[in-house]
Amino acid sequence: MSEARKGENNPAKRPEVRKKISKALKGGKHYNWKGGITPYRKKMYFGKKYQKWRMAVFTRDNFTCQFCGLRSHIGLGKPIYLEAHHIESWAKYPKLRFKIDNGITLCRGCHNLIKEERPTTQNGGKTSPRHK
Ligand SMILES: [Zn+2]
Repeated sequence: MSEARKGENNPAKRPEVRKKISKALKGGKHYNWKGGITPYRKKMYFGKKYQKWRMAVFTRDNFTCQFCGLRSHIGLGKPIYLEAHHIESWAKYPKLRFKIDNGITLCRGCHNLIKEERPTTQNGGKTSPRHK
């Protein structure tokens, strides 16, 4: 992949993607809430392949939220948590799960508004059962 094509490959630059994200953001927090994540899905989220995909998306987007433009900087005093969002649903499009083109960098605030699941923070984020 050449450097020159980097911008063109960015899904955030595609009008249909921006439209989709705006629509989702307007839908608010209850947008398409389906009531919980499966253990299978949770496991996949923390897999090595996922971590790699996520980092590739951040790198392409220059560690910048593609919706509100916040950028992850060290030393600003206020940390910005970036997350990689799947443009086409993880559940519906298993083949697109690790396509960089299907990922977009969002800050946590924007991501919480558009993602289908509620963040799992009831237990300080440590909800994973201890078995393999
Ligand atoms: Zn943002």
